[in-house]
Amino acid sequence: MMRTHWCGELRPQHIGQKVRLCGWASKIRDHGGVIFIDLRDRSGIVQTVFDPSACLREVHKLASEVGSEYVLLVEGEVVRRPPGTENPKLPTGEIEVRGERIEVLNESKPLPFPLTSDDADEMVRLKHRYLDLRRQRMQRILELRYKFTKAIRDFMDAEGFWEIETPILWKHTPEGAREFIVPSRLHPGKFYVLPQSPQLCKQLLMVAGVERYFQIARCFRDEDPRADRQLEFTQVDIEMSFITREDIFDLVERMLAYAFEHAVGIKVETPFARMSYSDAMERYGTDKPDLRFGMEIADITDIVANSSFQIFSQVASVGGKVKALNAVGCASFSRKDVSELTDIAKRAGAKGLATISVGESEIHSHVAKFLSDGELEAIFERLKATAGDLILIVADKGWLACTALGLLRNHIAAKLNLKRYGDWKFVWVVDFPLLQWDEEEGRYTPVHHPFTSPLPEDECLLIEGANSALPKGHPEHPLSKVRANAYDIVLNGYEIGGGSIRIHKRQLQEALFKAIDLPMEEAHQKFGFLLEAFEYGAPPHGGIALGLDRIIAIIADTENIREVIAFPKTSTGYDPMTGSPTPVSEQLLRDTHIRLSLED
Ligand code: ASP
Repeated sequence: MMRTHWCGELRPQHIGQKVRLCGWASKIRDHGGVIFIDLRDRSGIVQTVFDPSACLREVHKLASEVGSEYVLLVEGEVVRRPPGTENPKLPTGEIEVRGERIEVLNESKPLPFPLTSDDADEMVRLKHRYLDLRRQRMQRILELRYKFTKAIRDFMDAEGFWEIETPILWKHTPEGAREFIVPSRLHPGKFYVLPQSPQLCKQLLMVAGVERYFQIARCFRDEDPRADRQLEFTQVDIEMSFITREDIFDLVERMLAYAFEHAVGIKVETPFARMSYSDAMERYGTDKPDLRFGMEIADITDIVANSSFQIFSQVASVGGKVKALNAVGCASFSRKDVSELTDIAKRAGAKGLATISVGESEIHSHVAKFLSDGELEAIFERLKATAGDLILIVADKGWLACTALGLLRNHIAAKLNLKRYGDWKFVWVVDFPLLQWDEEEGRYTPVHHPFTSPLPEDECLLIEGANSALPKGHPEHPLSKVRANAYDIVLNGYEIGGGSIRIHKRQLQEALFKAIDLPMEEAHQKFGFLLEAFEYGAPPHGGIALGLDRIIAIIADTENIREVIAFPKTSTGYDPMTGSPTPVSEQLLRDTHIRLSLED
C-alpha cells in the first residue's frame, strides 16, 4: 500500500506518529511562506503543513507548486495544531501533518467547477461526473447507498433468501411501460427487450421451487421525460411462495427497519400504518399520502348541498362532491399566495377554488355571504377551524376535488415547512382497484400489472364482468369494482414500492387477459411460457419491489434522484459525460439488420 493511514482517520491519538498519506489537494493556502494543503481522500480531509523552517528546501518548493486537485503522496508527522488554530468543524481538526516529503503523483488542469461548493450547475456536474463524485457530499451518498444495499443483502440472507440474477436480454412482455429494444444480430429482424422488472422471471423462480428470491435488480423503462424518473433504475426485488400479503408486510417492515438502523442508525417504528386506497384518496387526495402532517380533506357536501351558493348546490345535485381542507394558521396568506393556490387547483382540473379566511371576529370570503351562519358553523366544526385558519373548498367530481385538494395540501405543507427531515412516516396502501378504464384505448388496463390477483372475495367479479350487460368503464360494471390483492408502500409522500399476491392458475390468468381485452392469440404469443408454467404445479406466491434510488434519495434528503445514482442520465435520457445516446456505425447497423429512416 502506498498509504499508511487514511486522511480522515487521524486524531490526537496519532500524535507523534509518522504517516504516509495519499489523496487530492483540496484547499491550498500560503501564509507568509508556510504552505497549508488540505489533503483529501475518500475518508475525509486532513491539513498538511510545509513550513520552510521545518522541512527541506526542495520539499517546500514542491509543495509551493502544488495546484488544486493534484494527486499527492505526503509523508510527515502528526502534530497537535497550535492552540487557537483548531478547526472544530473537521473531525481531524485538532491535529495536522507536518510534511517532510511530498510527491506529486499526478497533476490536474484547473477544474470546470469548484468541488467545495454544492451550487455548481447540474449539467456541468454531470459532464464531469468523475469530479463531481469526488465531492464529500457525493462520496457520503455513494457510501450510504452501498451500506444500505449491503444491510438488505445481510438481512435477506439471514431470512433464507437467495439472490438470483435474471436476464437483461429479455422478451417483449409488456407490464405497462414502454420497453427498450435490442436488435438481434443472429436473428435478423428480431429483438430482445430490456426488462421493465424481473417480474415474470421471479414468478417462474417460484414455479421452480426457489420459494424465497430477491435481487438488487436493474430495471429499464423507456419513459417520457420526467424529473423524478430515470430510464434505468434499481429495485430491491422480492418474491416468496406459500405466503399471504401479511407475510410480505412483516418481512418488508423488518427489512427496512434493519437497513435503516444498520446503514444509517435511524430507528423506524414498526408495524407501519395501513390505509385503503379509497381512504387515501378521500382523506389525502393521493395514493401516496404524506403522513408527517395532518390537514385531512373533509367532505362538506351534506352541509352545503342546499346552500344558496349555486356552484355548491349544483355540483351536489348531479352527484359531485364539495370537499374542503383546513390550512391551519394560513389566514394571513396574501392575495398572491391565494391566487397561487387557485392556479394549482386549476392545473389539477378544478374549475375554481373557494376560500374562507377565518379571523377573530370576521371572515373574509367571496362565498361566505351565500352561506348561512349555521352552514358556516357546521363547516368550521367539521374542519376544526378556528381564528387564523384558511379553509379551501373545491366542488367537482369527487375524485377530482380530492386530487386538487391533495396537491394543495402538499403545497401548503412545503410552504409551512411541515415536511420535516427525520420524521419517517411509512404507510401501506392496500385494496387498489385491479383495473382502470382507459378512455383513449377504450379498454380496461391493469392498475399494477397483469399478473396481480384479485382479492379472493372479488374473483367472481372478474368472471361476472365477462357477461355484464353494463357498458364497460361504467363505475358499476363488475370489472370496475374488482379490488386487487396489491399493496404499495409509501414513505413521507413517496411511493417507495409496490407488489401483489400473484395469479398462479392458468384459468384465472386467462380471465384477466380477457378482462383487459388482450386477444388470446397475442396473450399466448407474449406470455405462453408463463401460462404453460402455471400448468406444472405453480405454487401460490407473491412479492414486492422497492425503489432503491428513491429510498436513498429520501434518506439523503434530496428530491433529485440523480444525486444518488453514480452515473445518471438527465430527465430526457441524455448522458452529458459520454454524449450518449449517439449514432452507431453503418457497419453495426448493417450487422443488426437495421435501416434508419429519419424523416424529420
Ligand atoms: N414488478 C413490479 C414492479 O416493478 C413489482 C412487483 O409486483 O413485485 O412494479
